[in-house]
Amino acid sequence: MRRKLAAGNWKMNGLAAALDELEAMSGAAGGAAEVLICPPATLVSQAVAAAGDIAIGGQDCHAKASGAHTGDISAEMLKDAGASYVILGHSERRTDHGETDEDVRNKTRAAWDAGLSAVVCVGESLAEREASNTLDIIAGQLAGSIPDGATGHNLVVAYEPIWAIGTGKVPTTDQIGEVHDFMRAKLERRFGEGVGRSVRLLYGGSVKPGNAGEIFAVSNVDGALVGGASLKADDFVPIIEALG
Ligand code: 13P
Repeated sequence: MRRKLAAGNWKMNGLAAALDELEAMSGAAGGAAEVLICPPATLVSQAVAAAGDIAIGGQDCHAKASGAHTGDISAEMLKDAGASYVILGHSERRTDHGETDEDVRNKTRAAWDAGLSAVVCVGESLAEREASNTLDIIAGQLAGSIPDGATGHNLVVAYEPIWAIGTGKVPTTDQIGEVHDFMRAKLERRFGEGVGRSVRLLYGGSVKPGNAGEIFAVSNVDGALVGGASLKADDFVPIIEALG
């Protein structure tokens, strides 16, 4: 059985006062669903201290363990700060920082070497969906971004259609199900049935309290990667509760 996962990506949001929200969310953690918050790197240590049963993650890491890379953060540093996860290959990193599948693969390896679980993000643009290229794009990103050696413990995959992020537009449940079933089959083929079935698959893109239940009922959806609605306990707690 895959444990459901409610993951929040705070992106570049959150000053120290935001930790109050974390305390308010922590009451909903420790139940059937695992809860993860990925705050900005500046808050990781304090978030770990305030988190209770909430797991804390980073939003990116460098592919190297240390060295002359001003402004970057290594997986080992995140681990040292108390993080247990790191989001990798988010479309905002792929777009804003030109990250390629190869970059994401190397970062994922670095995360595993440091003992972090990687939440690897994939997703098509609107143009790619309209050209009926969605499954090809997802197949390429999965093959390119995930190194050999995945397990149900070190890997989570998040399907985040770029056109659904922060837009209020959500794919139909059929569209989400098609991609999630496809990803499950790809992972089973590459890593074997046991591993492929144990990797959790999250949906991300405009998940809100009002649509979470419907999305979580889709086959092979094991939870969500939530942006805007993870910033406030009033929004995120009902999403956690929708996972049961
Ligand atoms: P929103 O939930 O704000 O659409 O963001 C989704 C996302 O990008 C999470 O990583």
